[in-house]
Amino acid sequence: MEKGKLFVVATPIGNLEDITFRAINTLKNVDFIICEDTRVTNILLNKYEIKKELVFVNARNENRMLQSILSRLKEGHSAALVSDAGTPCISDPGTRLINCAIKQKIEIVGIPGANAATLALSISGLPVDSFIFEGFIPQKKGRQKELKKFVEEERCIVFYESVYRIKKLLEELNEYMPERLIIIFRELTKKFEESWRGTVEQLLNTLDKKIIKGEFVVIIAPQNWKENF
Ligand code: SAM
Repeated sequence: MEKGKLFVVATPIGNLEDITFRAINTLKNVDFIICEDTRVTNILLNKYEIKKELVFVNARNENRMLQSILSRLKEGHSAALVSDAGTPCISDPGTRLINCAIKQKIEIVGIPGANAATLALSISGLPVDSFIFEGFIPQKKGRQKELKKFVEEERCIVFYESVYRIKKLLEELNEYMPERLIIIFRELTKKFEESWRGTVEQLLNTLDKKIIKGEFVVIIAPQNWKENF
């Protein structure tokens, strides 16, 4: 029996129009879609009038669901893996499923698209031929060690940070690299998209005057970077 394929499909990070024709066609053509949260994925599917079986996988049902998804793929069904936003497996679930599918010789097909980190880098105006993607740094244990190691870093460093810890992150950066240029991108591709650039102190002043909401990408410029190059 011919095996099905597992398509790994990037979805928008806010603006629902940021999805490729190929991604839409793939979502239309697979037998079922694997997602994190059916409510979130249904918003996208409704916009593009896609009616499809949704299978959600979370930490609680993962073991059971993986077995059933792999069985269906081996029987010849095809599936699309999506996350709530952006590219699956980039600070998002999916790695274990893909790894198991590879071991079972199921073909993996990537459908590229939106990603918050690469979008932020591409509009940062900083040298980004080589960069470090940190994603979410640990919330407690190891956090300070992680931050300290970037003091001498000569490449851009990209963090994902939640609204609950964005100020904390800036306060910590103020301790380790007060002079460094930092860029904060908020709500990329969305209605209230904005960005701020400056030293940590300048950014803390800006954020103090605002009600902070939304999603954030933080870029730390390379050590010795001069704004007016
Ligand atoms: N897989 C996603 C990607 O490809 O970018 C990342 C998912 S991760 C769970 C969510 C984090 O990504 C957010 O907390 C934020 O740091 C960042 N993020 C996602 N969408 C964003 C947006 N529209 N604007 C700014 N940051 C965003």
